[in-house]
This record gives sequence, structure tokens and C-alpha cells, in this order.
Amino acid sequence: MAAGHSVVVLDNLSYGHRESIPKDVPFVEADMADSVKVRAALRDYKIELVMHFAALINVGESVHQPERYHENNVVRTFALLDAMIAEGVKKFVFSSTCATFGVPDKMPMSENLPQKPINPYGQNKLDVELKLRQLAREGKISFAAFRYFNAAGASADGSIGEDHQPETHLIPLAIAAALGRRPALKVFGTDYPTPDGTCLRDYVHVDDLSSAHIAVFDKLKETGLAFFYNLGIGVPYSVEDILKSVERVTGKPVPREYVERREGDPPALYADATKVRKELGWKPKYDTLDAIVSTAVRWHTLHPQGFSKR
Ligand code: UDP
Repeated sequence: MAAGHSVVVLDNLSYGHRESIPKDVPFVEADMADSVKVRAALRDYKIELVMHFAALINVGESVHQPERYHENNVVRTFALLDAMIAEGVKKFVFSSTCATFGVPDKMPMSENLPQKPINPYGQNKLDVELKLRQLAREGKISFAAFRYFNAAGASADGSIGEDHQPETHLIPLAIAAALGRRPALKVFGTDYPTPDGTCLRDYVHVDDLSSAHIAVFDKLKETGLAFFYNLGIGVPYSVEDILKSVERVTGKPVPREYVERREGDPPALYADATKVRKELGWKPKYDTLDAIVSTAVRWHTLHPQGFSKR
């Protein structure tokens, strides 16, 4: 909207929140695999480009519920693509993930590393990437796939932030523990081959993810084009670094407990973001951990119960 585009949101609200959608943005309540409703929405609103964010996102859960993850993340995405193609909508932006690479041999991670996911979530996203390549080759669509690293933070004005049920992500859990709203944070694994023994990740602010999506629009001019970008800041932070940042920003200690590794977690994942910076002129606004964490702390302070129960 702010970038001059008209936006329509389609969501089945299984995890999304109606309150997160601005009042002046049209909203269609539907599943992405409901071809009747999706096709009607594509037609009625004369949609030119679809951005796909609808997925189950918990790596740990995906290990225990692989069929559910495949059905939601792959099968239903293919149904959405079928509906788009049937309606002649040819531009697609896909939220992929660094988890498609598995445990990479090289760090930082560039786009041309081999993709060998080690969990069903990463495999789901790779399955969709492969399908998109095929559809582009056939001249049916053009697309960009952004392989997100760790999406983090909240809108600067504190109006939109994370509200997952159940919450499994590090930053919201650490903030809740510091604010005394949850029990001690469990640190998953202290014996990784990293400087302090905890996992390294690349945390990127949601507004910066968003600006890359907007910047790619102009590249999707004709069908048959395929773009892949690793989307992270390129600076690795450990779980301990995150906890220290939450302590600095809140001024309170994060009670913690050291436990076993979580299944499916690679030791280190951080981006070589050269390509996205060069080709899209992408420049993250939030380039320090404390700046990112501050926005999340603001959201959680203003909305102790998340979206609906203020
Ligand atoms: N993590 C942790 N305790 C938690 C949640 C996460 O130690 O309660 C670690 C997790 O092992 C990973 C990092 O924090 O190394 C980020 O995990 P998160 O679930 O936020 O994102 P993911 O990397 O799985 O996308």
C-alpha cells in the first residue's frame, strides 16, 4: 500500500489474525486451495501478482507431522498455482526458506549451494521451488523465491507483531520470559560447533523482508523468469547473543534452562546476501540485533495478549 500498490489479503485465518489487516484493505476469508473462492478473488480484484506467505512454519513440528506439512505447504500451494494459471495470473512471489539448504558445507550461504533439506519443512519449500522452476520453464509464470533466514521484529509503530499459538520462536519466548509472562526459556543445545556452543542464525527484520518483495515486482516483466534470493542480513547471532540483546533492551534478565538439542536444527545458518543487495538494491534498515529486538519488545509490551485480547 505504502509503495503505491493496491493489496487484497486472502487468508483462512487458521493462524493469521484479522486484526493485523488494515481496515481499508479488502479481505477474502478463504483457504488458498479453495479454487472457487481463489479464482473469484483473482478475477474480481483483477490481481496481477500473488505473494504467498501461507505455510506451517515450525521446523520441530514438521518432523513430527510430515504429512500435515506436505498437505498444507505443498499440495495446497500447487492448488493455488493451478488457480492462478487458470485465471491467467502470471506473477508470483514465494516465501521460501534457508532450510531448503539443510546443513550447508559453506558459510555464509550463497544461492548456488546444493539444496539438501534435513527436515520436512525445508523439503516442502524445496518441492515448491522445483514446481515453480518447472512452471517458469513452461512459460506459465514468472516468479521470485526469497529464501528467508530468521524473520524477526515487529512494525516500528508497535501495531503488528508476532502472535503464534503456540509460540515456538526464540525472540518472542525470550521476551516473554524476561517480562515474567512465561517460565524460563529453554536453550536447545549447548554443544554445537559454534563459538558459544549454541546455534547461529541470521535474524532479519520483517519490514526489511517486505522491502525486498516490493523491490522485485519490476523484475517480473514477462513469463518464464525465475529469481532466487537468499534473504538475510549476513551476520550470525547465537541463541546466547539473542538472550543478551533481550536483556539489554528490556533491562531484565532472561531466566533460562539449558536442555537437549531440538530435532531438525542445523548448527549455523547465515546468508551471503550479495545477490539481493546487488540485483534489487536491497539495503536492510535494521542492521543491529538490538534495533530488531527493540521493535519486538515494543509490540509485546503494548500487546501482552497478542492481537485480539489487548
Ligand atoms: N531456540 C531455543 N529455544 C527456544 C526456541 C528456539 O534455543 O525456545 C533456538 C533454536 O534451536 C534455533 C534458534 O533458537 O537455534 C532460532 O529458533 P526459532 O524457532 O526462533 O527459528 P528457526 O531457526 O527454527 O526458524
